[in-house]
Parts: sequence; structure tokens; C-alpha cells
Amino acid sequence: MSDQLERLNRLPLRENLRGLEPYGAPQLHVPILLNVNENTHGMPEKVHAAIVAAVDGVVSGLNRYPDREFTQLREALASYLGHGLSAGNIWAANGSNEVLQQILQAFGGPGRRLLSFPPTYSMYPLLASGTDTEYVAARRGADFSLTAEAAAAAVTASQANIVFLCSPNNPTGTALGMDVIEAVYEAGAAQNAVVVVDEAYAEFAHAGTPSALTLLPGRERLIVSRTMSKAFALAGARLGYLAAAPEIADALRLVRLPYHLSAVTQATALAALEHSDALLANVEDIKGQRDRIVAELTALGLTPAPSDSNFVFFGGLKDPHAVWQGLLDAGVLIRDVGIPGHLRVTAGTEAETSAFLDRIRELASSGVF
Ligand SMILES: *Cc1c(COP(=O)(O)O)cnc(C)c1O
Repeated sequence: MSDQLERLNRLPLRENLRGLEPYGAPQLHVPILLNVNENTHGMPEKVHAAIVAAVDGVVSGLNRYPDREFTQLREALASYLGHGLSAGNIWAANGSNEVLQQILQAFGGPGRRLLSFPPTYSMYPLLASGTDTEYVAARRGADFSLTAEAAAAAVTASQANIVFLCSPNNPTGTALGMDVIEAVYEAGAAQNAVVVVDEAYAEFAHAGTPSALTLLPGRERLIVSRTMSKAFALAGARLGYLAAAPEIADALRLVRLPYHLSAVTQATALAALEHSDALLANVEDIKGQRDRIVAELTALGLTPAPSDSNFVFFGGLKDPHAVWQGLLDAGVLIRDVGIPGHLRVTAGTEAETSAFLDRIRELASSGVF
């Protein structure tokens, strides 16, 4: 046992946290970072200027606590989402990870159960342990798909209090059918389960892919979670949010820390939302790079999953670690998500994507896979 672990174990840590590893995607310093699904296109100049001006405008008021209800931001998020939503339907926190944590604080906890469908977002089990909520994993099909029948059966069998559905799913990239979400919601009625659809990548979906926002009317246990970390290129600013019935937001007000969204965060997010057109233009470019990766990997004989996100999950590799290392040796960092035969790559700028594809073609011709 390492010295550090031994010292940790002497502390009165909660039993369900003993032996756990913290979230830890490697943060290596290499030229091309395609490993954590960040927006590789950065901030357009005019959005940069708008954010700087907005932050400048709040600095002189930083001696006061910010608007605890972040009313203006909730109004702006509601109008960005559309679908007839208003400020009362919106809640936000420091990243959608915090939103999900607050959902577990309010609806999970000791004696409660969270159901999800791996392979999916690696934070779900960690958020469950952090809130002492039991995590139940139900399996997907061999091709990582999830049918309405299988998902609904898992809801009933698990007696889950909360269900997390990730759509488009991380790490596979594929969006769920609305039939799956409806079936999970119906099956959860028996135990009054809260159903969360994590749509962190919704803006990258192919045109015509429906959002679970369309299912909100009349479904008071349904929550749709979104983030400004990906499409809005604001991973560093930390702003995630949800849309749901107003009573869901009221439940989260019971567990949020007072003034949890800083004035700087609120001003930054508001300025970015005012320029959503410019930011969403970059999303279109990223979708083009994503489709290019899918086409070129297919041509190399690999098997990329259909992607509605800003990343591509691909299989057909005999030795994924050797491919991951071969790319890293060329300064390209992608993600080994621990699924045999597979790797995941984030769509980059055109130049970054070309560097990834050039290197993977070299690895293919040298027989690494
Ligand atoms: C990146 C990601 C998020 C975003 O988390 P933030 O805390 O908003 O940065 C949420 N869910 C999934 C599935 C993700 O991949």
C-alpha cells in the first residue's frame, strides 16, 4: 500500500469511500489534446471581448454576494432552450456535474438507488458514492445499444429512485431514441423515480435528432441536463444547467450552497449566451470534423460507433493501448476508456483532426492494429 493511501486510511473516512480512486483523466502537456471532449475551437474574438466586458462590469460589485437566484441567467438559458420553457423551469450550478450531484443530494442518499447503463459517463458512480447513494449498473446490448424494453425492465428490477440516461452517450457517442426515455419514465412511475437525461452533447447531434426537452410537458419527474462546457467552449468557466418542472428546481434549492454561482460565472455565461450564434457556428465545424473521423476510420477497417457528439468511439483494435501510445508519441492525446478493443477521440480543429488521422494511418500501415 502506498504511503499516501495508508495515511488516508487512518482517517475516519466514510466506509463507502474507502479504496475509491478520484476522477482522473490524465492532464498531460502535449500539443494536441483530444482526450476529454473539450471544444477544440476555442472562443471567437467577439465572444472573448463580450465576456471580458461583462466580467469587468461586475468586478466593482464583488464585495456583495451575487444574485442567489441568478434570475437573468435562468431567463437567458430558458430562451436559449426554447420549447416554451421559462426561468422557473431552469436550474444551474458550477458544471452539470454539480447539477447531477445536487439531484443525488435531493433525491438519492442512504437507502436510495441510482440506476445507469454502462458503458456511460464515468462520473455517475463517483457522484453516487459521494452522496452515499447505491449505484446499480444495468447492461447494454453487445453493440452498446439500449432498447426501450431492456431499459424499462432494468428500472423495474432495480427499483431505482433515480435513473441517469446519457444521450448522446459518453463514451459511445450515440443518442437514445425518445421511446427509450418514455419507457424508462413510465416504468419509473411505480416507484416515483426521477429520470435524468444528460444531454451534455445535444448541440452536436445530427439535424433532426430530437431532444428530451420535447418530452418535458406533463412529466414532472423528468429532468434534462445540459452544459456550457462543450458546445459553448466554456469548460473552464463551469456552468451546467437543467430544464424540468419548477418543483424540481425547488427541491434543489434545499441542497444548493447559498450563492453557489459566482457573479463572475453568471456574467460570463450571460455574455456567451448573447453570442450563441457565433459559438454554435463552431459547433457546425466540429460536427464536420467528427463526420470526417467516422468516415476515415471506417475506411481503415475500424468500427466507429454512430456519433451525435463531438467525439468518436471506435473499435476493431487488437491492441488499443499500443495505438494510444503510438498517438501520444506523435503528440496526440486521446482517451482509453478501458473498454477492450476500443478508444475514444474528440473531434479537433481541421489541423488537429488531420494530425490524428495521419498518425493513425501510419500506425495502421505499420501493423499496430
Ligand atoms: C463533459 C460531460 C459533462 C459536463 O460536465 P460539466 O460539469 O458541465 O463540465 C456532463 N455529462 C457528460 C456525459 C459529459 O461527458
